[in-house]
Amino acid sequence: MPIYEYKCEKCGNIFEELRGLSHRDDPVECPDCHSEAKRIVSQCAASIGGSYSTVGSSCGSGGFS
Ligand SMILES: [Zn+2]
Repeated sequence: MPIYEYKCEKCGNIFEELRGLSHRDDPVECPDCHSEAKRIVSQCAASIGGSYSTVGSSCGSGGFS
């Protein structure tokens, strides 16, 4: 099952969820504030490797909107 990244619209928390293809765009609850989070479409998800510090610099910030 693939891992998708989600970003909370309220607190900006970014987290990963294991989800099936058919559920990847379903609403997710932020683990921090329990608001709705939306999936981040990232073209470089495989290169992130658990660290978010490089996101934006190496992948560009255009995928977050
Ligand atoms: Zn949140």
